[in-house]
Amino acid sequence: MFGECHAHIFMNGYNYKEAVELHRGHVDRESICRWFCEYKKRGVVFIRDGGDALGVSEYAKGIAGEYGIDYRTPVFAIHRKGRYGSIVGREFETMKEYRELVAEVKRRGGDFIKIMLSGIMDFNHCGTVTSIPLKKEEICEMIHIAHEEGFAVMAHVNGAQTVKEAALAGVDSVEHGNYLDEECIRVMARQGTLWVPTLATVRNLIGCGRFPDEEVTAIWHRAAKNLRLAYRLGVPLALGSDAGAYLVPHGQGIFDEYEAFREVLGDGERLDGMLAENEKRLKERFQRK
Ligand SMILES: [Zn+2]
Repeated sequence: MFGECHAHIFMNGYNYKEAVELHRGHVDRESICRWFCEYKKRGVVFIRDGGDALGVSEYAKGIAGEYGIDYRTPVFAIHRKGRYGSIVGREFETMKEYRELVAEVKRRGGDFIKIMLSGIMDFNHCGTVTSIPLKKEEICEMIHIAHEEGFAVMAHVNGAQTVKEAALAGVDSVEHGNYLDEECIRVMARQGTLWVPTLATVRNLIGCGRFPDEEVTAIWHRAAKNLRLAYRLGVPLALGSDAGAYLVPHGQGIFDEYEAFREVLGDGERLDGMLAENEKRLKERFQRK
């Protein structure tokens, strides 16, 4: 079975506030074990976490071996003060503070650096991304600093312009990557940027009633169109469902993601071979050197 290249072990798949309360001040080991069992029983033995501000993924790394799981964590994600990202990490205001956070990830045994470069989709309005994206110069500097410290960089980023800037700056993986255009996809292909589109976070919302279905469906169709183009142009794609996010359960999430890929790209050996190959690349890149 494929690994899960984007999960948040601290989240529960249905209620973010409840998850935060559960772990606040003291990591709840039992819930981590429950989620690890959900992976294990489905044969998923690789997990790359997207981080949290409560030390949950750091703790999880310490016990993953007991479950035979190869688990990688950025400890926390890093975002610019006042921009999107506080739900999964820590903030910086100056580049000096950013450097200190990178150093802290290193001290705490993080495997890679996760940065937040834009907001998320507004599920009530297809085409809209919340929050202001980071500037090109900041993106370059953040990626450069992390690379200098020997870390690979996983970037939460949506919107063609910002994704393109991240790819050109040498980011190792683009997470989500909604609302791309052809130029941006060509840059990712050229740069060999791994793309983890987390399709399950959108597709699983269709029909749930929380957001207008016509908007969610429109977002899904745009994502599917970009995925087809990326596949055709040779962007390295990998499976990660953002498990723990709303309606994306741990363990099942990666099966939902695979199903979404097959719906868009068709099933077959070529798809499976590409996914396996890119997961291997991702595993090699996203570890402490
Ligand atoms: Zn995530």
